Amino acid sequence: MTLRLLLAASTLALAAAAPLPKKGEPAITAQTQRSGGVLTAEQTALQFDSADLAFEVLPETQSLNGVATLTFTARVRLTRLPIDLDRNLPVSAIAIDGTPLPSSAWTNPEGRLIITLPKPVAAGKRVTARITYAGTPHVAVRAPWDDGMVWSKTPDGRTWFATTAEGYGCDLFWPCLDFPTGEPAVVTLHITVPPGLKAPSNGVLLGVDTLPDGRTRWNWRTKHPNTYAIALNVGPYEEISGTYKSRFGNSIPMHYWYLPGEKPQAEKLFAEFAPTLDFFESMIGPYPFADEKLGVVETPHKGMEHQTINAYGNEYAKAPEGFDWLFHHELAHEWFGNQLTAANWDDYWLHEGFGSYMQPLYGEWREGRARYAAMMQTQRAPIMNLKPITQQRVTTEEEVYELDKGGAGQDIYYKGSWMLHTLRGLIGDAAFFDATRLAVYGRPDPKPGNFKPRFGSTKEFEGFVRQVTGKDYGWFFDVYLRQAALPDLIERRTGNTLALSWIVPGGGAFPMPVEVQVDGKTQTVPMTDGKATLTVPATAHIVIDPDARILRRSIAIEEMQAWKAAQAKRPPS
Ligand SMILES: [Zn+2]
Repeated sequence: MTLRLLLAASTLALAAAAPLPKKGEPAITAQTQRSGGVLTAEQTALQFDSADLAFEVLPETQSLNGVATLTFTARVRLTRLPIDLDRNLPVSAIAIDGTPLPSSAWTNPEGRLIITLPKPVAAGKRVTARITYAGTPHVAVRAPWDDGMVWSKTPDGRTWFATTAEGYGCDLFWPCLDFPTGEPAVVTLHITVPPGLKAPSNGVLLGVDTLPDGRTRWNWRTKHPNTYAIALNVGPYEEISGTYKSRFGNSIPMHYWYLPGEKPQAEKLFAEFAPTLDFFESMIGPYPFADEKLGVVETPHKGMEHQTINAYGNEYAKAPEGFDWLFHHELAHEWFGNQLTAANWDDYWLHEGFGSYMQPLYGEWREGRARYAAMMQTQRAPIMNLKPITQQRVTTEEEVYELDKGGAGQDIYYKGSWMLHTLRGLIGDAAFFDATRLAVYGRPDPKPGNFKPRFGSTKEFEGFVRQVTGKDYGWFFDVYLRQAALPDLIERRTGNTLALSWIVPGGGAFPMPVEVQVDGKTQTVPMTDGKATLTVPATAHIVIDPDARILRRSIAIEEMQAWKAAQAKRPPS
């Protein structure tokens, strides 16, 4: 069968009440699964000005109907538009600047929709593509660890639906540029849902229309969303809202959409919004999307940093630190991920390392050093050190998250966090937070209205650290970000001398100062050439790095990880 026949057949099958897709169905191509990576000249030629996205959500068939109107400015002369769109969403019509194209003008064999323009678009000129499509989008197996549609039911049997797209990308359900710099400047959403359901989404609510058939259409507008931040959420939600008076003088609307029957838990979670905002605004700077909202929606999957409509699925879990880590982590991404976005997946520790460091930092803000230390220790045990945090090349999402594709996997979270903890101890709070603020806002004095979402990189962050300290910390980042193994502090005690020396992967300089406690008295040993010899009484009790300021090799943790791995392999008794 030709492709077109296949498409016709699949459309017919859908019309004849096809069985609902199972988890992982329908299959997606390698192209759709891929997100980011090296861009073609054709892709970098597009400046994405706006996307107007209309969705009809059809829970009965677990399908979507879509009309996407995308406007681009040509950076160079264009003859084709290369758009990412899963081929499970066949295109039925395309119009360019209002003129319908013949169906021979586009192809989408593998999930890369190529539209041949009726006439070339000159550099600097705009072009608008209106793309009509419909189909059964891929159903996630284990969102958010993989991606796709999450079709679920509330406890009382009503539709509860969400999307996640961080890994496989926006092309799972709308035509987009599936790489981190593919952010449209503005996105307008029109989400049509069955009667009685709501569709909270990104940005500002423009209005809700009631259609003649009783369905409602939810219209939203958001600026500079991350490509994977655009999210559909549908359910019989109830809503709590309020206004936060910011220390920067502005007001921030806050909204939480939750399932019926959970009001007490929902109110407790909502009560965390204001103090969490105060923490971030005090430590980092203004909430980046104050002119839209702080939005959270309860989802049938764990969570995701969907800009201004964060997914929350932590089931109101309770923990000794007294706040919801998942709500906190996803909100951290509004600063580290959505305001500051890594232009290359290789630098995603900027999202996840900072995002993960913010929870212990909030523990410290609320309760002091002991809570901070306890939360940092929880993050220490899973650090694997199998691959460097960055590979210093343009990568796809999978090449970061999957170990067998060269990625550091979860080390971008906790090793990133511990690297930041170590850096903060090394350069001090003032320099650490100044460099962080520069990375997030691109300026030292962020105020509401004087910044926009921006793209950053590891190299840029290292430059900000150099700028605020006046020193080069290349030796530090070389070891923690560009080597897999941790620095190892070797201690040798003979008679009344204690010799300390750093052994680091790569063998470079590592002048990392170390605190040493001798009979209860702490001194800082400079370790200028990566080593030092101290005179200490032979009988003295010594504790190295008593406040655990430094991420370094721990044989205890290596042995624990090996033991756990061996236990996991044992057959059940
Ligand atoms: Zn995260």
